[in-house]
Amino acid sequence: MIGANSQAAMTVVKDEKTKEISSEFQIKTEAELSNLGHYYRSCPRNKIQAQEKRLMEKTLLSKVGPKEKEHQRKKILRNFFAWNAKQMRTDPKEIKFWNWIKTLNPDNVYSDERFKSMSYEFLDRLLSKSIFRETMSHWLSIYEPSLEAGDEDQKTRHFISFIRSCISIKDTVNSKKENFIADHNIEITFDEVKSNSSLKITQKQPISAGCYFEIKCTNPSCSLLKAKEFVYLGNGGTFEYLNEAQSCVCRECRAPVSVFNVGFLSCKWAFKGNTTDGQYVEFPVDLCTGYTNLDEIKLHSWMWLQIKTCDLTSEENDFITGLVVGSFQDQTIPKKKYKKRKEISSETTCEDSGQEKGMNIELDSGTQFSADMISQGVQTADETDPSFSLRFQFKRDLDNIKRQISEIAFNTYKNEQTIAALKEEYRRLTENGQKKDV
Ligand SMILES: [Zn+2]
Repeated sequence: MIGANSQAAMTVVKDEKTKEISSEFQIKTEAELSNLGHYYRSCPRNKIQAQEKRLMEKTLLSKVGPKEKEHQRKKILRNFFAWNAKQMRTDPKEIKFWNWIKTLNPDNVYSDERFKSMSYEFLDRLLSKSIFRETMSHWLSIYEPSLEAGDEDQKTRHFISFIRSCISIKDTVNSKKENFIADHNIEITFDEVKSNSSLKITQKQPISAGCYFEIKCTNPSCSLLKAKEFVYLGNGGTFEYLNEAQSCVCRECRAPVSVFNVGFLSCKWAFKGNTTDGQYVEFPVDLCTGYTNLDEIKLHSWMWLQIKTCDLTSEENDFITGLVVGSFQDQTIPKKKYKKRKEISSETTCEDSGQEKGMNIELDSGTQFSADMISQGVQTADETDPSFSLRFQFKRDLDNIKRQISEIAFNTYKNEQTIAALKEEYRRLTENGQKKDV
């Protein structure tokens, strides 16, 4: 919508020189936006997740710089995957798990779900799985003794100690959550499946609490082709996965879409189903604040699968909100290390964005954006107003249009001057001709 408006404004400009200038202000289409940057950016972290990341990395960043941190993360993950690929496995559950991890791996260009880099989010997603934590811990105990005395290996040791503390925090968080659910007898009763055959249209971001499908449009002529989008199923009901998946359509081209994952925003849920190999699977209640994927369902192929979601009670909400931060010994959240920008420049595009690169941009209102969020056009963690991203995009569009209007006005002025000069020249020539005739 925004791209279309700006392009309409841009076509007014005919002059060659102006055309060249205006190309700098080209605004990315939504599909281009979705395809830029890392996979995770289609759903940015909320305030609590941002605090968690800063706490997790606090000690690490006191030992190594941000660039070095990225280098070490890539090195560790590459070494780990190289070792892991050589392990012989016979347990079908483990085989399924590692096959699924392969689909997330940045090297798997054919995957719908791969991360585009060995990012913090990639490592964090892996570490959130207990099989990964156990295997990684085992590998670290083999790998660490092979490190030597040099500076580079010392930095690797710092990174290993960061991974170990992440593993310990995640273990603590999991057991605290399990205890809370058991102590409070939190249960979810499945009720009759809501049969809802009306078309469900995709949206760019999860907004309301409840259950979502993560989808991709597969229509080759659609501008949203392969962009990750969401379909909101609702909250408080029992959903049948296969039924619901059949009635989802792309908001751009209205073609049926391909569902590749289920996710939840700030709610509690449970699921049960029958796999195609005749196994009945029931997962206990889980709860989340912010957005979480239900990766477990991808380890099976389903005959049927029911998912039920409910609102969090205020007690559950308080518990889950404070859970991760409360699991750190030192809970002081470090300040952001990165500099803020004073104002948004019209040339800000998504390519140069990214929290890893550390750009933060301040709006006139004083509201801070990380460049990630701008690239996705979504609100910051502190913002709950869904119209916020829209207002931001409108402001950016408006600035671009203002620039173009100035260009047009300037060119018009120059053209008028040229026309006036030509008219004057013509008048003089005609006068001279008339004099000669006389
Ligand atoms: Zn489409």
